[in-house]
Amino acid sequence: MKNIAQQYAPLIQIVDDDFATRLLMRASLEKAGFRVAEAENGLVAVAEFEELQPDAILLDVMMPKLDGFDTCRAIRRHPSGMHTPILMVTGLEDLESIHRSFDSGATDFITKPINWPVLNYRVKYMLRASEAFHDVIDKQKQIQELAFFDHLTGLANRTMFKDSLEILLAESAAEESQLAVLFMDLDRFKTINDTLGHHTGDILLQNVAARINSCIRESDSFSRLKKNESKNYVSRQGGDEFTIMLPRLTNPEDASKVAQRINNALAQSFKIEGHEIFISASIGISIFPLDGTEAEVLMKHADLAMYHAKEKGKNGFQFYKKSLNIKARERLNFENDIRKAVAGEEFELWYQPQVSMQDGRITGAESLTRWNHHILGQVPPSDFIPSIEELGLIVPFTDWVIHQAGKQQLEWQKDGMRPIRVAINISSKNFIQQRLPEKLKRIINDKNVTPCFFEVEITESVLAEQSGETLKILRHLKELGMTISVDDFGTGYSSLMYLKSFPVNSIKIDRFFVKDIINNPQDAAIVQAIIAMAQSLEMTVIAEGIETREQFRMLRDMGCNIGQGYLFSPAIPAKHFARLVQVDNSFYNFK
Ligand code: C2E
Ligand code: MG
Ligand code: MG
Repeated sequence: MKNIAQQYAPLIQIVDDDFATRLLMRASLEKAGFRVAEAENGLVAVAEFEELQPDAILLDVMMPKLDGFDTCRAIRRHPSGMHTPILMVTGLEDLESIHRSFDSGATDFITKPINWPVLNYRVKYMLRASEAFHDVIDKQKQIQELAFFDHLTGLANRTMFKDSLEILLAESAAEESQLAVLFMDLDRFKTINDTLGHHTGDILLQNVAARINSCIRESDSFSRLKKNESKNYVSRQGGDEFTIMLPRLTNPEDASKVAQRINNALAQSFKIEGHEIFISASIGISIFPLDGTEAEVLMKHADLAMYHAKEKGKNGFQFYKKSLNIKARERLNFENDIRKAVAGEEFELWYQPQVSMQDGRITGAESLTRWNHHILGQVPPSDFIPSIEELGLIVPFTDWVIHQAGKQQLEWQKDGMRPIRVAINISSKNFIQQRLPEKLKRIINDKNVTPCFFEVEITESVLAEQSGETLKILRHLKELGMTISVDDFGTGYSSLMYLKSFPVNSIKIDRFFVKDIINNPQDAAIVQAIIAMAQSLEMTVIAEGIETREQFRMLRDMGCNIGQGYLFSPAIPAKHFARLVQVDNSFYNFK
């Protein structure tokens, strides 16, 4: 009877046609505490792989029937063999075999004659590396699960919804079919929540979600829905807001039938914990391609239509009409205004401090653009940046930001302020066309600024494109001495693969997760997983949107490196920022 440790020891499969070699390997590995299985050729090894699930494989190169290279390839094609460590046993300095082993997917190689103590260590090292790798992969999976679904209703969350919508829009464009986006808001939900309590409110939202789902499933307007496809077509955007997408409409009027069906379904009262609750909803509808071709625009228009439905009396639905937004003329003015602002008149760059979580010192600043519109007053970036992108003005706009940030660095330097790293936000739109390396290099030379005092903030979508050109640009920026951070992390792809294959220095946890970190264990778990992942990749973690001391303490204890948020300061004009840097050390005393 083996003891427990032996039963759970890693299992190593030896694949070699030579009986004596197998015997020696077995003896050596068992002595080192491993369990061993043998296969006398490649065919046997592949056939037994599924059942054995070895933790690592030692694979001889020269074997009859199936040689080591083909065996390795076959195992790699197996769904659970993708990441199994495979050590190739090759002839001494047989470069050709070493080269072919690598190409067929081997993890490492060892040469014959075998130095036994070295073999044991080689296996141990391989297992250690694979364990670390699996750890990181597990964390990534966890983040994705937590990050894409709404925990209360099980519906898609806004990120998932937007991703699915983008995919469907591309399909609809290719098929030349129509698609509707429904934006739905419950009427008087707040009153119910306030009078009956949050718990009842939560159960009500779950019931509403179920009823919406049943209306969608019954729908005859898009009968070609593939199995399970509808899962991501209904989302809770947060609070009492839901969105629905209906692809492959033959007629936009079909969308109103679904809206009507939802209203009818909600008209029947809900019985929750002894209360009978009546509720209704207002629904706005936008249609692709009539009301827009991009996900964000369609969502915005459906949202606007929803407000219109509310105004017209609740429990109804409205289609978006261009006139609902701004009248065509006013819209034209707005475009002209943006063009003028980009030409350099009304924008201003403000700075929000980034603070070390350890000692409270200011380590950097994020630059954020402010638009002082001559009539509308201060317009928030979330309103004008999408318009800038739509109008194709992102390149001149980014040029302005870079120029401004460089100029500011020089001015601060002249005023004797200690050098501070400034992060600039780079839109993912036309990322390649922005020719960042050339432009940043020029500004650094012109203004005589040290490159390490520039940080470039990109979003995950830039990395997700996986283009060689993007990689080239980022490498170039890094060579110039700049740092790169990934903004709004957690809301997008959250993929380790992207992070690993690009030269990224830090990730910024989106404020959406920080907001509820104290009260929502799920958000806390996401943040903890992101931090662990970043640490294993040796990246710095910046948390956005820290507003309270509790959030600060929790994030610091989780190992977050840098913080940003209203607790320290909102974005402020350059002059005020300089003053803040002067009082620096004594200023943030949040222990
Ligand atoms: P972002 O890059 O994620 O910037 C952080 C946003 O969070 C800023 O909003 C900031 O004012 C806000 N914020 C910071 N701390 C807190 C906090 O404690 N609580 C809350 N509630 N909010 C906080 P802002 O300035 O409205 O900018 C919104 C977005 O617009 C930015 O998100 C960024 O994506 C974009 N943006 C701003 N300036 C530029 C720019 O110059 N170029 C580009 N391409 N995008 C920009
Ligand atoms: Mg940012
Ligand atoms: Mg952000």
